[in-house]
Amino acid sequence: MINLKASVSKLAGVGPKYLKLLEKLYIYTTEDFLYYFPFRYDDFTNISTIDNWQNGQTLTTSAQITSITNVISKNGKRLTIAQIQDNTAKGRVVWFNQHFLIKVLKKNITYNFSGKVAEFNEKNTLVNPIFESVDNQSIHTQGLVPIYPETEGVSSKWLRTKIKDLVTKIDTDSLDEYLPEHLLNEYDLLDINTAIKDIHFPQSHIHAQKAKDRLAFEEIFFELLNVEYRKYELENKHKGIKLNINQTYINEFIATLPFELTSSQNDACDHLLRLMQINKPMNSLLAGDVGSGKTIVAAICAYAAYTSGYRTVYLAPTEILANQHFQTFSNLFTKLGIKLQLVTSNTKEKTFDADMLIGTHALLYKEDIYKKIGFVVIDEQHRFGVEQRHKISKVLTANETIPHVLSMTATPIPRTLALTLFGDLDICTLDVLPNKDKKIITKAATHTQRTTIYTWIKNSNKRAFIVCPFIEVSDQPNLENVKAAQVEYETLKKTFFKNHNVGLLHGKLKPEEKTKIIEDFTQGNIQILVSTPVIEVGIDIPDAEIIVIESAERYGLASLHQLRGRVGRGAKTGYCFAIMSDNSTTGYSRLKHLETIDKGIELAEIDMQTRGRGDIFGTIQHGFKSFKLADLSDINLLEKAKKAAIATFEQIDTLPKLKAKLENKYSKFISSN
Ligand code: ADP
Ligand code: MG
Repeated sequence: MINLKASVSKLAGVGPKYLKLLEKLYIYTTEDFLYYFPFRYDDFTNISTIDNWQNGQTLTTSAQITSITNVISKNGKRLTIAQIQDNTAKGRVVWFNQHFLIKVLKKNITYNFSGKVAEFNEKNTLVNPIFESVDNQSIHTQGLVPIYPETEGVSSKWLRTKIKDLVTKIDTDSLDEYLPEHLLNEYDLLDINTAIKDIHFPQSHIHAQKAKDRLAFEEIFFELLNVEYRKYELENKHKGIKLNINQTYINEFIATLPFELTSSQNDACDHLLRLMQINKPMNSLLAGDVGSGKTIVAAICAYAAYTSGYRTVYLAPTEILANQHFQTFSNLFTKLGIKLQLVTSNTKEKTFDADMLIGTHALLYKEDIYKKIGFVVIDEQHRFGVEQRHKISKVLTANETIPHVLSMTATPIPRTLALTLFGDLDICTLDVLPNKDKKIITKAATHTQRTTIYTWIKNSNKRAFIVCPFIEVSDQPNLENVKAAQVEYETLKKTFFKNHNVGLLHGKLKPEEKTKIIEDFTQGNIQILVSTPVIEVGIDIPDAEIIVIESAERYGLASLHQLRGRVGRGAKTGYCFAIMSDNSTTGYSRLKHLETIDKGIELAEIDMQTRGRGDIFGTIQHGFKSFKLADLSDINLLEKAKKAAIATFEQIDTLPKLKAKLENKYSKFISSN
């Protein structure tokens, strides 16, 4: 049997350097390696001689190199150009940005070159082909070649070589099947050995698909089995805190607010406060579009906890947001004599005895405080990293009695999906927006309209965010027109906004620098704030009226919607300009939807139609559950896996291998949060 738990350091060619790099891909063990799946295959089943090359074909050619040179093109591109020859003709090969190849490629060796033929300087050329000596087993240049997600320093080619070694071992040393046989039969699933072999090195797309079907099923199945497990644990192993809430206090507090609650907010409060008054830990997800007013709902619950003698912890994913919530809570509660404390990585204090603790994940490392906490809020829940979410659930479920938990998110999650995937969570939605008639006016703009827009902003005297996807300009050829915050900042303060105060905000700044900049912008000392999308995370600056989103075509509509939610939060109308990177028009009509649609969920549905699986599932993938293969838009798969999970959980004690796999998979992670 292959030792799946063996460290990758035991593999040939994996020294300390690669060990570190592989950590970035979450590859620690042999098992992690085998379950590191390709995201697509290059189809090199077409073997062709040079005389048969045709523009646009993807193919493999065996040939020798007759000459090879490095050149720098007129527009500064670094090229390596080789002449190759087989027994039919001569051909040309070009690589971009790989000048080192000249040292790697030898003249008297026959290589397989695999890639796409394109016209280059008016001649058919094989562009950026992958290559290997024909003496090899041809794992890189023949048949369906797996392409893996890479990280700097770890290429798909390198991963392929290592995984091939491991997969070859399966032939003699099989993997132990953990799914019960009746499930394999009932759902027509491949056995684990065939599935792992075929997902990496399939003979055909049909083989690859069958392998993917099995592994995708198993992914969802385990997740849903875990949902059943968590439900069971929460009901049988833990106790909640029965809060004794005096509704009159709550009503009096609500009456002091500067606005009326929306009907949704009222319903959500009633619902959540009811759950907090029973002897069972609440585990709720409050979903509501940007600006739907989730914070005040959480604050009312926190107040209810306070008046019943319990303390609250409010976790935010960033320092900026934690600061802001601290402000909001101070405004609401300080006058009532409630003690608040802000806890971030900068906090020097050692005691945490305030009535409400507001902070970042730094709060997670003050574990002992959770014994005395009655209520925990996890704001923008999907923004916490996987590790942090593991930590959160570990901390929260450490004791027999556990606090009520409210997670909040602006991710639009389709109802059926939510019910399946978050079967152990109580889900509560805010679907009425406050200030319904207050609008954000959105304009999707072409590259050429930029000057007009900036001129308008300059003359409007309004405070504006300018959001760029990157911090620095990318050196990748296809990304060179994508805007970078650093450069835009330098340019804009010398041109359009030379008479304004311009600020720069991005994730690499020190926390105190960030706070200072946000403060300056809030106060109006900075009027134009150039930023990366860090501001997407729930910042509330009521006086910011304009948001410009550069290279807008790079985002899904749902993300753009979240970004524009940063403006128009005060009394004034907000303006959003979504500007294209360059003169290309791909994606422009998609952006136009932003002008007419103002509901996150509707935009997410368009994303789903126009961008394949869609960003909505992408966000859910990133933010909640990271599935490698399973397609969350596949309702059929979800239903099958749900049915199997419910039936299987009942007999889990009779299935030791499955149980071991489940416990191993989720040992660190038993809560949904
Ligand atoms: P989100 O749901 O995105 O977290 P927030 O809680 O930050 O939204 O609320 C957005 C803004 O709307 C805040 O400035 C908040 O004070 C305001 N707000 C919340 N509820 C109401 C309401 N019922 N009426 C008017 N304004 C409200
Ligand atoms: Mg919020």
